[in-house]
Amino acid sequence: MVFREHIPTRSNIKTVVVNYAAHRVDLRRDYQNRCGYCDDVDTWRFSWFEIDHLVPQKYLVSILPTDYSNLVYACRSCNNSKRAQWPTKKEEIHNHNDEGFIDPCDASYSDQFSRAVNGRIVAETNLGAWMYKALKFYKPQHEIIWNIEQLDNMIDEIEALSADSVLLDQLLDCYRNFRKYVKELSEAGFQKSI
Ligand SMILES: [Zn+2]
Repeated sequence: MVFREHIPTRSNIKTVVVNYAAHRVDLRRDYQNRCGYCDDVDTWRFSWFEIDHLVPQKYLVSILPTDYSNLVYACRSCNNSKRAQWPTKKEEIHNHNDEGFIDPCDASYSDQFSRAVNGRIVAETNLGAWMYKALKFYKPQHEIIWNIEQLDNMIDEIEALSADSVLLDQLLDCYRNFRKYVKELSEAGFQKSI
């Protein structure tokens, strides 16, 4: 299966800001509420989403740490795993000899990975295998979030069916409650974090 269905498009934002955190709202929109690296949606873990510098700050020469063009909306897992890894140590060279990174806004990023039927991320290229390890894509949370999203979409599809079965109504009630409590839990987590 394909790794991701959405390719993020980074807006051409040149606004000068004091702190790169000021770009969070624009980044979230451009990345369609998803981590640029693992493609996890932020619906249930909004407060876990952060801002990563594609080229780590320590290797920046001509790019400012606040430049929008170098920022990636990223989940905490990917951001923490990536840290300052940048094998080429050069601002302008993203990867070399199958080591390093590809900008998630580049369409070719999608070709580096695929999904197993259970949602697990699979590396498809040597460079993909390098990024898979560097970003710890083997962590179970990616598979779990992918599956929750599939189930959530399935609830929408079942709700759209106009079946007049009592059993189906009861089942839908269970689903709606489940969804409501998961949502409340994630919102409570968000409130706590701000
Ligand atoms: Zn991620």
